[in-house]
Amino acid sequence: MEKQRNKHRALMETFLDNVRLSRRSFIKASAATGAGVALGAGLGPQLKSLAVAAPKGAGEMGEWKPATCQGCTSWCSKQVYVIDGRAVKVRGNPHSKVNLGAGCPRSHLAIQQLYDPDRIKTPMKRTNPKKGRHEDPKFVPITWDEALDAIADQK
Ligand code: SF4
Repeated sequence: MEKQRNKHRALMETFLDNVRLSRRSFIKASAATGAGVALGAGLGPQLKSLAVAAPKGAGEMGEWKPATCQGCTSWCSKQVYVIDGRAVKVRGNPHSKVNLGAGCPRSHLAIQQLYDPDRIKTPMKRTNPKKGRHEDPKFVPITWDEALDAIADQK
């Protein structure tokens, strides 16, 4: 059992070594990703509420902050590289005891999702009581308090 666990750990470490970006490819990736995320506003509340960040290394522009991917119900442990308040890169959290920093490619799309200019950022309320295929629901943005009150008031 222990032997198999060590073999699994070694395989996972090899995998992680392979997916870690070199400094050169990181800069290239950051530039490409930065273009993709430059459309959005500031960080979402989830990213703002992250725990303590890893300290900046010498010569680094940003810092890796711990996070979880919410691409599915696995909630894999991640780290997000943040430069001047903007997320530019996602990687597995190497400190994770669950998956040792592994994950699926979907987590890398979270940045595009976060900064998508069409992302819905507040609750939306339907104002047209008529429903049907050709009816415009006439959604209007409301506050979270209004949304929670509306849900609580439903019978
Ligand atoms: S990295 Fe993949 S498997 Fe893990 S939570 Fe995100 S979407 Fe799910």
